[in-house]
Amino acid sequence: MKCECGGRAVYYRRYEGRGWCKSCFVSSIERKFRHTVSKNRLIQKGDRIAVAVSGGKDSLSMLHLLSGIRGFDMVAFSIDEGIGGYRPKGIGCAAELARGLGIEHHVYSYKKELGFEIDALQDILGQVKHCTYCGVFRRYLLNMKARELGASKLAVGHNLDDEAQSIMMNFVRGDSMRFARLGASPGVSANVKFVPRIKPMRDIPEREVAAYAILKGIEFAGDECPHSFDNVRRDMQSLLNDFELKYPGTKQQIVSFYDRLKASLPVPEGSVQECVECGEPSSGRTCKACELLSGIRKRPDQSS
Ligand SMILES: [Zn+2]
Ligand SMILES: [Zn+2]
Repeated sequence: MKCECGGRAVYYRRYEGRGWCKSCFVSSIERKFRHTVSKNRLIQKGDRIAVAVSGGKDSLSMLHLLSGIRGFDMVAFSIDEGIGGYRPKGIGCAAELARGLGIEHHVYSYKKELGFEIDALQDILGQVKHCTYCGVFRRYLLNMKARELGASKLAVGHNLDDEAQSIMMNFVRGDSMRFARLGASPGVSANVKFVPRIKPMRDIPEREVAAYAILKGIEFAGDECPHSFDNVRRDMQSLLNDFELKYPGTKQQIVSFYDRLKASLPVPEGSVQECVECGEPSSGRTCKACELLSGIRKRPDQSS
């Protein structure tokens, strides 16, 4: 198979029905990335972007792609949940890439910030529950650390597949609040302690992110946490993959339909409170992280 330029195709895009050579494919991804950034005004001159890097293909490709854009300041950071045999490899890859690109990189651990490793929680809480907890703590630390690093925005590596899954999951759950908060740039919050999140990767399909990382020689770790137990997301993923196979372009259509719909949705109200325990932004008196933490600390079998 040939690329339109006449070169040997290394990637076949089903939804376009054409093959791409290495150099045309890489340029097309870079073009798409820049288009997402400019169309949604994700980055302004003078911004300081904190880039959350887990060490998987999405976040590392994002770091690489961001480094190709000028006019703003950037710092990378990773959260070490304390998942033995999983996160260390990713953090190693992230540190390596950041060093190569000349970008400052920091690591924050659950152990140091929260007092425990997530592995220890699994025995106490069970698999399903401890994943929910982990997600809350990760989002909590991502926002806190991005702010402490002086960032005006927090960049996360959600790809097109992640975004399409989130849209459909909130749709079937009827969660209109969360549904309205999706998008490339979820908008500003009323709380100054909340660092707005941007998703510059959300128009690039997962398969293409993987191909990009491999073609660019980016060393990355697997994305799948060994504890991962998000049944609904996993079911939605396989459903969308089936649809994509049968009807190429489905995921893109979901995301672009969402964007058109979002323009007419009411802006969700941002959290205006600060948690009475920790001072972080919260929708209630105490934030979700403090609520879960106090539950853990109350358990008699939790030594700390
Ligand atoms: Zn070509
Ligand atoms: Zn709190």
